[in-house]
Amino acid sequence: MARLVMKFGGTSVADIDRIRNVAHHVKREVDAGHEVAVVVSAMSGKTNELVAWCRTASPLHDAREYDAVVASGEQVTSGLLAITLEGIGVNARSWQGWQIPILTDNVHGSARIADIDGGELIKRFKERKEVAVVSGFQGVHKETGRITTLGRGGSDTSAVAIAAAIKADRCDIYTDVDGVYTTDPRVVPRARRLDRVAFEEMLELASLGAKVLQVRSVELGMVHKVPIFVRSSFAKPEDIDPYGTPPGTLICNEEDIVEQQVVTGIAFSKDEAQISVRHVPDKPGVAAAIFGPLAHASITVDMIVQNVSADGATTDLTFTVPAGDYRRATDVLEKAKGTIGFKRIDGETEVAKVSVIGIGMRSHAGVAADAFKALAGRGVNIRAITTSEIKFSVLIDAAYTELAVRTLHSLYGLDQ
Ligand code: ASP
Ligand code: MG
Repeated sequence: MARLVMKFGGTSVADIDRIRNVAHHVKREVDAGHEVAVVVSAMSGKTNELVAWCRTASPLHDAREYDAVVASGEQVTSGLLAITLEGIGVNARSWQGWQIPILTDNVHGSARIADIDGGELIKRFKERKEVAVVSGFQGVHKETGRITTLGRGGSDTSAVAIAAAIKADRCDIYTDVDGVYTTDPRVVPRARRLDRVAFEEMLELASLGAKVLQVRSVELGMVHKVPIFVRSSFAKPEDIDPYGTPPGTLICNEEDIVEQQVVTGIAFSKDEAQISVRHVPDKPGVAAAIFGPLAHASITVDMIVQNVSADGATTDLTFTVPAGDYRRATDVLEKAKGTIGFKRIDGETEVAKVSVIGIGMRSHAGVAADAFKALAGRGVNIRAITTSEIKFSVLIDAAYTELAVRTLHSLYGLDQ
């Protein structure tokens, strides 16, 4: 017997038929003798619709009321799944965030979980063999008692947090892909599914553009050591052997990966913009004068390159920001022109960041150098580079993204 969390996303609960399919997945695990908590998202498209309603009602709405509205999507699906489970003879009860409770801070719209008491759910596993059906995405502020939501895609985080709170053996994320791939299969058809990925690698993959899991859910899994298993929600419940190993990707501790490759995966993102601040005085305090105002405006800066000044007096500073913040960033800098003292700003929005990830890089030299050579061989110009212990990223012209990803995918032997 094991204790499991099963998380189902929006497409898996998109209508009553799909919810019935989910109920059979749950029944399969219950029949195999497991204690189960299910975490559900809202029906696909529902949260977008609720968000749009808030905006239409008033563009500048109170974030507390936004949460009251958008949390409702998950209330519906958890109730419906509990009804459906009961209908096929499985004891079940729905739980909204405030009922468990899932306590959070008060950053409405992107709250962080502070604490979850899993006691009542565990008691009901034991005493009533009852499945807990938990509304994902939502919690409650511990002081005001107001409903909060965890940010878009937050049900993944709910699931991993519940798994930690009830000391589950595993958190299964059922989604519309059957695992985590070496890169996006739409770009590289020969991309393959990874059997295992280390938490740290998954954190990088998720932050760098692989959209399988909310980044925060991976952080939580890493901190609380909850193995996360990404698997397909399209597999028919009756086709799955409850005692076998289904296809999917296990996100786990590094030590649990026997055959560690040097490179695990390649991520890319076209949501970047490059800004170059030209001819800034080369003296202490200039970086602070540039990045201070950007931070103040909540604009996250990613890659930073500063040239050594040629004349000893001025230098150029290049960095990237999310494409959506490009206009705002240049406005902020223009306003601070007096204190920074630059000559002009050059920008480029048609850029992409391609990242190579693998914990094996810690112990292998020359991994990045091989990439630079391979990209040069294909005529791909590199605008900026960043490296860390287990990844490196290059900024290139967006038009070369696919070529660069394919080149690196075969360079590191990731093709099937
Ligand atoms: N329903 C929420 C969203 O669409 C949460 C989730 O699905 O994870 O963002
Ligand atoms: Mg999701």
